Amino acid sequence: MQPFDLKTPKSLDEAIAELPAERSYTAPQILAGGQDILTVMKDDIAAPEALVEIGGLGLSGIEMSDGGDLRIGATTTIQEIADHAGIQASFPAIAEAAKSIASPQIRSQATLGGNLHQKPRCPYYRHSAVNCIKKGGSVCLAEFGFNKYAAILGGGPSYFSHPSDMAVALIAMGASVEIQGPSGTRTEKLGDYYVGPEVSVETETKLKANEVATRITVPAPAKGSVSTYYKFKERASYDFALSAAGIHLLVEGGTIKYASVVLGGVAPKPWHSPEAEKALVGQPMKAETWTAAGEAAVADAAPLDMNGYKVHLVKGVLFRALESLA
Ligand SMILES: Cc1cc2nc3c(=O)[nH]c(=O)nc-3n(C[C@H](O)[C@H](O)[C@H](O)COP(=O)(O)OP(=O)(O)OC[C@H]3O[C@@H](n4cnc5c(N)ncnc54)[C@H](O)[C@@H]3O)c2cc1C
Repeated sequence: MQPFDLKTPKSLDEAIAELPAERSYTAPQILAGGQDILTVMKDDIAAPEALVEIGGLGLSGIEMSDGGDLRIGATTTIQEIADHAGIQASFPAIAEAAKSIASPQIRSQATLGGNLHQKPRCPYYRHSAVNCIKKGGSVCLAEFGFNKYAAILGGGPSYFSHPSDMAVALIAMGASVEIQGPSGTRTEKLGDYYVGPEVSVETETKLKANEVATRITVPAPAKGSVSTYYKFKERASYDFALSAAGIHLLVEGGTIKYASVVLGGVAPKPWHSPEAEKALVGQPMKAETWTAAGEAAVADAAPLDMNGYKVHLVKGVLFRALESLA
């Protein structure tokens, strides 16, 4: 790892002023819990000349309004989210996603903002000797190489699968992200915030280099609606998702009235599945419907040599998640 300066700004404006207008290999970056950025630096994906610490800027905390809307500050830890009684009761998908992440030690240090902006885990991208397409090279080595963990949906020209569990659950619940930069504050629907490699191959979100995500907001779920996050991992201990689903449903009189379905571990961004939602809405809450939703979700899947198993996994994950909500 290269030496770097540690900047400890006293305000968000000072932090933003320390950030660069453009990204580069050596440009300063944000430091939150450090669980990803330090590994990125050790893997020589980036060698920022400075890290800008945002931990002491008052961006932490969880609030629920009287109406049931949720606000989570960007530097709130994943463990705080997993442990929050209000989130467990009203937004189970979000609490379950948080609980599924890494180990207790990592969860107590890792922040929500860092989880949403972590870099992909593709072994080619993470290898310091490989200049893959995400690092300015010309090809994605996973496409015809080792692609067991790669994307089956939305891949190309890069085929990594997005690593964030929190993003999947939050998008299923209709979350938005508040962003602050030199020209003020803006809010984006989290579902529109992630971009696929066909739009931007080196970055995964619309965040500019000199912007900070400050808060995530989630609207109160409709009365009577239910949600869950179901994750399949290769190992029983902590691991990233091979396939996961964030689901938010409203079922009335045994019929599905509303469905939000987002898949994780199978695409270069959290994968919203309108196809699965269409197969659910208006249908009875029963096994045939869940099977149809799984089939619809992977109808456009394009597996690579080593990851055809994910097509079957998505169907199983969706079935189990929907079954658990029944
Ligand atoms: C062993 C291990 C297992 C893991 N397992 C999982 C898992 O199962 N599921 C999962 O989802 N994740 C997993 N992770 C990833 C982990 O959750 C993230 O590394 C962590 O959440 C990053 O948060 P952080 O606060 O440490 O971020 P940092 O490492 O400090 O930052 C990460 C990135 O986000 C940027 N950033 C941080 N905060 C902001 C902000 N507010 N606005 C804009 N950009 C920001 C930083 O500049 C950096 O690029 C695992 C990590 C490890 C090491």
